[in-house]
Amino acid sequence: MRKLTAIFTSLALGAAMFAGTAQAQDKGYVGIAMPTKSSARWISDGESMVKQFNEAGYETDLQYAEDDIPNQLAQIENMITKGVDVLVIAAIDGTTLSNALENANAADIKVIAYDRLIRDSPHVDYYATFDNFQVGVQQASSLVEGLKERFPDQKPWNVELFGGSPDDNNAYFFYDGGMSVLQPLIDSGDIEIVSGQQGMDTVGTLRWDGAVAQSRMDNLLSAYYTDKQVHGVLSPYDGLSIGILSSLKGVGYGSGDLKMPIVTGQDAEIPSVKSILAGEQYSTIFKDTRELAGVTVGMVDALLQGGEPEINDTETYDNGVKVVPSYLLEPVLVDADNWEEVLIGSGYYEMDQIK
Ligand code: BGC
Repeated sequence: MRKLTAIFTSLALGAAMFAGTAQAQDKGYVGIAMPTKSSARWISDGESMVKQFNEAGYETDLQYAEDDIPNQLAQIENMITKGVDVLVIAAIDGTTLSNALENANAADIKVIAYDRLIRDSPHVDYYATFDNFQVGVQQASSLVEGLKERFPDQKPWNVELFGGSPDDNNAYFFYDGGMSVLQPLIDSGDIEIVSGQQGMDTVGTLRWDGAVAQSRMDNLLSAYYTDKQVHGVLSPYDGLSIGILSSLKGVGYGSGDLKMPIVTGQDAEIPSVKSILAGEQYSTIFKDTRELAGVTVGMVDALLQGGEPEINDTETYDNGVKVVPSYLLEPVLVDADNWEEVLIGSGYYEMDQIK
């Protein structure tokens, strides 16, 4: 009998070794639903979570939905059927998950909203994110700093505003944070929104699509700037900034006497870091996805092992049904002055990815 047990034990060990890290992954099963691979930040989020969940002893199922809402819903339903213990969801459209979360709740599955708040459902247990209002404050503060530096003798500065996707709760926080800095300068006449286009319902960019931002910038330039110069553009995400910059370059900004306007961004994606080094994009916001993954793994571990998830905000994120207890990380502004210290120094990128 002992011998048999020994044989079975060594067979089991062999199987576990064959399955790589499977041996350690017996603490639970985590379904991770990410929005898209079209932006590098979400790839980093997924990779960091799988790595850190595996290290903590969890099995994972990571899925990307390529910004297709039915696809993401099907992936989540599939995870529920497969019997995950927890769902970690970065929603494409934060308002479309109510039914799926009813099903998750019926199956006793906990839900963590990852980076983006899930709205209109009572079944969101926790929210792990960055201080999204502060992201907008940092973007707009950097815009103003850049305007002073590049166009010191200009008044008013001609500025255009871009918002993120109207189905992403974060987009409103970025915009409101930005306007908390810009509105007083608009009121005082230091900044003029030449097109007059303000408000998320007017300046939002569905699905954070860079091509949409590029064509809106094209339209703004031909409708309002044939005899005027743009000095700044508030852009909430690097993928939009790249589109906006290419529109601007298309009509000659950044060459000859026509200085490149100050264009902000977010996510510190490699093409935008390169653009900052080339003197085109002015700044971006670094959100360390390794840290966000770490916070999320900590929350899941506490939820499943009977502890209290660590939170630092119980007021800000009302999803329409409840205020979701949250952990907010601090975003970091990155520009030509500090990119190396922040992005290379932290080990987020290797120098040869940038230069
Ligand atoms: C995230 C940003 C990102 C944007 C577009 C937002 O929800 O918080 O980091 O730039 O989505 O992917």
